[in-house]
Amino acid sequence: MKAIRISAPGGPDVLRLEDVADPSPKDGEALVRVEAIGLNFIEVYFRMGLYKPAGYPFTPGGEVAGVVEAVGPGVTSVKPGDHVATFNAQGAYAEKSLVAAGRLVPIPEGVSARQAAAAMLQGMTAHYLATSTRPLGPGDTCLVHAAAGGVGLLLCRIAKRRGARVIGTVSTEAKAVLAREAGADEVILYTKIDFVAETKRLTNGKGVEAVYDSVGKTTFEKGLDVLAPRGTMALFGQSSGPADPIDPQILNQKGSVYLTRPSLFHYVASREDLLARAGDVLAWVKDGSLPLRIDRTFPLAEAAAAHRALEARETAGKVLILPGEGA
Ligand code: NDP
Repeated sequence: MKAIRISAPGGPDVLRLEDVADPSPKDGEALVRVEAIGLNFIEVYFRMGLYKPAGYPFTPGGEVAGVVEAVGPGVTSVKPGDHVATFNAQGAYAEKSLVAAGRLVPIPEGVSARQAAAAMLQGMTAHYLATSTRPLGPGDTCLVHAAAGGVGLLLCRIAKRRGARVIGTVSTEAKAVLAREAGADEVILYTKIDFVAETKRLTNGKGVEAVYDSVGKTTFEKGLDVLAPRGTMALFGQSSGPADPIDPQILNQKGSVYLTRPSLFHYVASREDLLARAGDVLAWVKDGSLPLRIDRTFPLAEAAAAHRALEARETAGKVLILPGEGA
């Protein structure tokens, strides 16, 4: 089969298409014929070496949707022919991928593989941020950075669904339009306007109950200034680079605010939580109440171009890699 492999950390060019042997499922594993691969920023960190892979060469990626082709000993939860999705594949950028069977979720009838691959990781991230990290409700205002991003658009929609007021930040007018379409009540062009002063103005000086920050280095410290007393800073990403360390005393000075650095893995660690969050997200996709925006797709051979687009801030919404397309 064809798979992307990385032999050393580096820029997008280290993503090379190679011929490798088909993997075979061992105890508790399923082999999935991949129909759609979800691109996520974490793969940039692994490619660059910011996050360390178990070893080289390796195939990056975790989010796939497709059809079970074979199962290993002891697997009863899925069978060949089942339509499934996961964000925990062992090397997603490939025509076939091994997955621990317990990390697969069924794709409901009426939801396509592309939709499932677009919804799993970013959808469940938006879900846990808005429903568990700082559960939003009517009367709350939140600030969503990179509001037209993959997680950002879905977070705007889920925050609105819970009745909160949403302020989004984006870098361009075109992204502002998309954030508004996704439900953002206010949008700040944070590359041109000081988002701290503008957020304070928009909240009459009160600040927001939650900041959802996926941008990191360029936004994190300033974001602490827009929290209402006892508000929550959920720093969940670092698209602009890792945030600088802070003295815990600052959390007192800013109004007894909470700081968390959450990860999806801990919010869907159990099978029960995984099925509940994925069940909600895929049901909302199916009934149309959580529209997905697939920004663009790439054939497997062009994974490097997909990374370039994401890193260059060109994308808004989801980027998919489709192994069945082109060469
Ligand atoms: P996005 O689609 O949000 O892409 C990144 C966006 O970040 C860009 O489009 C851009 O939006 C903004 N950005 C700001 N500064 C930069 C910069 N210097 N370089 C690149 N982009 C920048 O990606 P995802 O939705 O996939 O992920 C967003 C972040 O959330 C990532 O850091 C990812 O690792 C993290 N994440 C964390 C999870 C968790 O559970 N902790 C789960 C999922 C994702 P704009 O042009 O509007 O500024």
